[in-house]
Amino acid sequence: MSVQKAGHKNRHKKQGLLFVISGPSGSGKTTLLGKVLLTKVLRRKLAKSISVTTRSQRSGEREGQDYFFISPAEFRRLHKAKKILEWTRYLGYYYGTKKDALEKSLASGRHLALCLDMRGALRLKRLYPKNTVTVFIEPPSLKELRKRIAGRCCQTKPEEIERRVRLAQAELKNSRRYDYVVKNNNLTQAAARLGDIILKEIGDFKTTARCN
Ligand code: 5GP
Repeated sequence: MSVQKAGHKNRHKKQGLLFVISGPSGSGKTTLLGKVLLTKVLRRKLAKSISVTTRSQRSGEREGQDYFFISPAEFRRLHKAKKILEWTRYLGYYYGTKKDALEKSLASGRHLALCLDMRGALRLKRLYPKNTVTVFIEPPSLKELRKRIAGRCCQTKPEEIERRVRLAQAELKNSRRYDYVVKNNNLTQAAARLGDIILKEIGDFKTTARCN
């Protein structure tokens, strides 16, 4: 299920769009986006923005494909040099979007997908109001969310799992601030819905994104 909250008229036609996907830790946003990026119709139209982060690499994550893993000193250097367009601090770690890659994409007309927290989503909406489409991924329930976080964060301390759950509760209260809300009850259906939203915003809704 999804809800559309706003239209996106009068955007810069030749510039790329920024699809900002947010949702609590464990909502499935990264998996959903991964599925959408693999669909035939979107593979060539949409690229993923790779953030920098100071948190450590989880098993299965790849440098330069999931994140650029950097030290806090390197993050401070990039920030001081004004190379970070937006950033957040999440559970003690820094995460940020690099300015040059994003602006290059926008100018060349390429569409970008970004997995950011609410602070990042609202900041990009403020910076590029006509080019930013925000989508909130809602988990089926808090119970399911806790299960997913605990399952995924097996290398993480129990206190961090609890902190992620508490943050998720706060984030869920803000879903109305997004252009669209997609409930992730079923991965295949939610991915198809997310793909349809992206295609519709790109102006190519004739072809439905199939995410089987
Ligand atoms: P995780 O540690 O689970 O990969 O990410 C923690 C949170 O940080 C998630 O909500 C994720 O979407 C967000 N995040 C990742 N990269 C960025 C970024 O560059 N900027 C912002 N604002 N949030 C980010």
